[in-house]
Amino acid sequence: MKKPKVVVLGAGYGGIMTTVKLQKMIGTNEVDLTLVNKHDYHYQTTWLHESSAGTLHHDRTRIPIKDVVDFNKVNFVQDTVISIDPKAKKVILEDGELEYDYLVIGLGFESATFGIKGIEEHAYTINNVNSSRLIRDTIEYNFSLYNNEEEERPELITIVVGGAGFTGIEFVGEVANRLPELCHEYDIDPSKVRLVTVEAGPSALAGFDPELVEYAMNRLEAKGVEFKIGTAIKEATADGIVVEKDGVQEEIKTKNFVWAAGVRGNSIVEKSGFEVNRGRVQIRPDLRTPDYDDVIVVGDCAVIMNEETGRPYPPTAQIAIQMADVAAHNVKVMVRGGSEFKEFTPNILGTVASLGEGDAIGVVFGTRKLFGWMASVMKKIIDNRYLLKLGGIGLLLKKGKFNIFK
Ligand code: FAD
Ligand code: NAD
Repeated sequence: MKKPKVVVLGAGYGGIMTTVKLQKMIGTNEVDLTLVNKHDYHYQTTWLHESSAGTLHHDRTRIPIKDVVDFNKVNFVQDTVISIDPKAKKVILEDGELEYDYLVIGLGFESATFGIKGIEEHAYTINNVNSSRLIRDTIEYNFSLYNNEEEERPELITIVVGGAGFTGIEFVGEVANRLPELCHEYDIDPSKVRLVTVEAGPSALAGFDPELVEYAMNRLEAKGVEFKIGTAIKEATADGIVVEKDGVQEEIKTKNFVWAAGVRGNSIVEKSGFEVNRGRVQIRPDLRTPDYDDVIVVGDCAVIMNEETGRPYPPTAQIAIQMADVAAHNVKVMVRGGSEFKEFTPNILGTVASLGEGDAIGVVFGTRKLFGWMASVMKKIIDNRYLLKLGGIGLLLKKGKFNIFK
């Protein structure tokens, strides 16, 4: 009998966890399981602010897919997805096509530019290993250029971060920690360097506990971070950005502009004709798309509504990982022709954000607030727990974070 073909797109948190679970739950005699990913590695997106700042080598974030996926049970295809044709049940890849009976889309996020002029051309983004490495290298290059220019060019040693959400705050915390070493390395007077965070909203980390937000801002300001709150980025150019506060515009010159002002689902999903809201599919409770019974979406390509607040849950790795349990179960149900679908409800265990080496803020177990090294240790516990879940003790020992002071 012909085995049903299950194809998983993307080896991010949602895609790789779904694959790892499926390879344990269902035999190769029952299913033909394929994982497609652009690279032969999975990466920890949640560590990319560190790689971008140069405080953690990007190889630490990379996990070879062969280390966690059993290639005797899963066909791994290293290729780039171009589009999905859900009517014909086909995936178009750069180097061919794949047919499927059941599809899991886990293609992750991309930066939302909100149509702001010049962002696509002139901003750096913290989206994947390659874009992170480019940020680190750009900052190092511009710092090295500074003392080789005849004219004083402060824009080379001005770093501007757009957005004071979790990504912007975590990145700026890492950069602030690295600046003393960078200045020493490139013979730059630290008092000449500017590290600016521009936030359009009335506060950094909107919606987070105000006491923790104040702690974070105080800690970062003490390390030299300048906050421009209530200030919207209106345009990016080759030489800097234009911001506006209370109707007054200002130009900030920089050659190091990092855009961390929000994300959307991978645009492939929208371009393939799935109905989306800010690039994300409003899935059914069992994670299937509204229009296709044979397509499940996990991670940042999906939007889950919080019934209590009436707003979507912020897209996180925590939710993507939890979705994989339900996705794998429901794929198994479809393959076996059953009807016992599980419904997905996020179980938010907490939110912890790093402020750089040994410092963090967080809310865990509902209302418990954590500051400083305790929050930083909690963040490492969360990261290590994921590695254990994905690849067992071997992966944890290889890639885990064990130094509690870093
Ligand atoms: P992703 O992790 O985005 O992975 C997508 C995968 O698909 C990648 O492997 C990619 O290579 C692959 N792919 C993409 N396009 C294609 C294509 N066309 N063809 C083939 N393959 C493709 N969340 C938390 O819960 N906790 C945190 O502490 C946290 N920290 C974060 C820190 C930073 C700096 C950032 C940027 C985000 C952070 N998040 C955090 C959010 C979290 O990283 C995302 O919600 C999560 O990565 C989404 O997972 P995903 O499974 O949707 O896919
Ligand atoms: P975000 O949407 O959470 O924050 C973006 C920020 O940019 C907002 O504060 C917004 O007001 C601001 N902004 C938007 N347009 C702007 C403009 N024109 N000028 C200036 N500021 C502007 O996005 P993010 O920080 O990239 O986070 C993406 C997702 O990843 C979120 O769901 C977040 O919770 C998650 N994340 C979680 C963690 C963690 O748990 N430690 C870390 C990083 C990211």
